Amino acid sequence: MGANGSDSMSNDGRSKVLRKIWNACVPGKVRICAWRACMNGLPTHANLARRMVAVENVCSICGGNSESTEHVLRDSSLAKTVWFGGLGIRVDDSNHTRFISWITSVAMQSSSMVFDLCLMTLWRLWKNRNDVLWNGKQVRAKDLVLEADDPAKFEGEFGVIIRDHQGIFVAAGAGLIGPTGSAFHAELFAARQALMLAQSFCPVGARMVFEGDASNGFGCHAEAGGGLLSSRAYH
Ligand SMILES: [Zn+2]
Repeated sequence: MGANGSDSMSNDGRSKVLRKIWNACVPGKVRICAWRACMNGLPTHANLARRMVAVENVCSICGGNSESTEHVLRDSSLAKTVWFGGLGIRVDDSNHTRFISWITSVAMQSSSMVFDLCLMTLWRLWKNRNDVLWNGKQVRAKDLVLEADDPAKFEGEFGVIIRDHQGIFVAAGAGLIGPTGSAFHAELFAARQALMLAQSFCPVGARMVFEGDASNGFGCHAEAGGGLLSSRAYH
């Protein structure tokens, strides 16, 4: 089956991998990029040409014929080097399955932590393609591997939700944390933001319960009120 052909992939398999991407401990922009790649919705030159946009369907990086999702994120020599150099994943030249089938098989063989790194790698490859196309920049495969692999360079995000004692939504906040060294630091930051938000929305002296959901298990209960704070943090 060609790269643009349709694989025989079940709806169940498709929704499983999309769910795994959605639940990954990576920044939202990384999840969205992977999701779009799965739906073949990234604006590669092949996809734009298919939608009758007047572009030349050549690779922005190597100039090769046809810039498909599969080429940019998996089959180009740059992508192959990054996958193998960073994660030991060898892209087989005979593997012509569509992207979503391939990433599903990667997901099935990877731990959650390795799969998170795979998603970061995808995002770095796509960002690099855009940097080359729009800013004339180019980084070496070695740099792409290091950046995907280095937690200190991850940009953290947080999200906070306040619910009352009946579980009814009260307030929410979200934003960027900046570079974070670990999930623990990201979660601490999110906890601080949750408490600052609670200052504005919760009655003085209210008993509050704090729930964190970072993968390293950070969480605490502040026995002081009727509200429930939930926070999510990604690093
Ligand atoms: Zn190329």
